Amino acid sequence: MAKRVILRNGTLIDGSGAPAARNDALVIEGNRIKSVGPLPPDIRLEEETVIDASGQWILPGLIDAHVHLSYGYPAVRGEGRGRGNTRPEFNTLRAARSAQRVLHSGVTGICVPGGTWFTDVAVRDAVRLGLMEGPRIHCAGRMLITYGCIEDDEPSWVGTPDHSVGVLCDSRDALVNEVRRQSKHGVNFIKMADSRSGESQMLAQEDIAAVVAEAHRRNLRVAIHSRGAGSTRAAAEAGVDWIIHADLATEADLEAVAKRGIPIAPTATFLATVIEEGDRLGPDQVQLDINRMKRHFDNLVTLMQRAKELGIKLLCGTDSGNNPFMPFGEKHAKEAEILVRYGGWSPMEAICAMTKGNAFALALEGEVGEVKAGKLADVIVLKRDPLADITVLQGGRHLACVIKDGKLVDLGEGDLSFGRAASERPRSAAPLNMISSP
Ligand SMILES: [Zn+2]
Repeated sequence: MAKRVILRNGTLIDGSGAPAARNDALVIEGNRIKSVGPLPPDIRLEEETVIDASGQWILPGLIDAHVHLSYGYPAVRGEGRGRGNTRPEFNTLRAARSAQRVLHSGVTGICVPGGTWFTDVAVRDAVRLGLMEGPRIHCAGRMLITYGCIEDDEPSWVGTPDHSVGVLCDSRDALVNEVRRQSKHGVNFIKMADSRSGESQMLAQEDIAAVVAEAHRRNLRVAIHSRGAGSTRAAAEAGVDWIIHADLATEADLEAVAKRGIPIAPTATFLATVIEEGDRLGPDQVQLDINRMKRHFDNLVTLMQRAKELGIKLLCGTDSGNNPFMPFGEKHAKEAEILVRYGGWSPMEAICAMTKGNAFALALEGEVGEVKAGKLADVIVLKRDPLADITVLQGGRHLACVIKDGKLVDLGEGDLSFGRAASERPRSAAPLNMISSP
């Protein structure tokens, strides 16, 4: 029998919202947590892999509910940059390396609402089938759009070329057929997308309802990019499974969302990054209207404050990988920081949202996101207290150890710094406090 992994000592934050508590022994057997609490009497420590977490904090592995692995970032030095150089094979290998970088930052699960080709499906399966290590991946394919939606970037006579993130569907039948095509190729869910900024509604409620009906019949969930008020209301009434952004929703729209129990993934991290980096880099480089971004950010902060009162579940996601300034492995826990700094959430509430709450974004509710007996063994150990400073969850800089699906991740393995300037490369992780070596 394979050795068990046992974490001794440390402070346990189990993801359920229970107060942080002293840990004696967390026992992992196979890919599940076997027990939490006193060391079981039948265990002979000298036969197991034992890690001493004294003075450290044990948490569920982090989950980012909004990551894009396959948009083609980061650019790699020497790579051809013209669109004619775009090809799925190179992009898939890059996405695979990016997934490893995500895992090495303590993020053991990601939800990917949209990408190129079926790249994310391939990376998901490579991880699941043991070809490579990586986080759990729950992914959509290309976003279903109509003219005028986000990702409809080319003239109408070009449409959406194969390398696009969106796929133009010019009728309700075409939307339904695209659901069928993506279902055949193994996506976990369908991503629809309305207009970029929400100023006008591009998808009729009947369009959304047609997609939802076909997807649900095939056991696929539906998520929608919707910043606008009308589209958010329409999405709620059409029965989508979760809404991404919703920043222009009115109080009445939010009540419609709340009534149907639909979660929202505000994704304020992207806006915060545009505002912060935009001030540093200048709007030309970021190429987004910073003042508009500030208004949207304020709306999302209000949403964070109102969600608890309305009983709307918020998913914690960042949009990492959607732009060159959203690097993998860096900002996955920044949404938790925003919830605390601006949204009025406690650090414990933000941690629970990123763990137990975000299990929804992996369709693994009740299976991951908590350090409890019987759950899948996704666990991280931190050298700093995230309840005292929520930012220590970011960038993997304070990690002592990452366990995903019961396996210890070798944080020192391989150089994952491709596409990153030397000054930005993280220092390699300190060695583990092994009591006995694996
Ligand atoms: Zn996104």
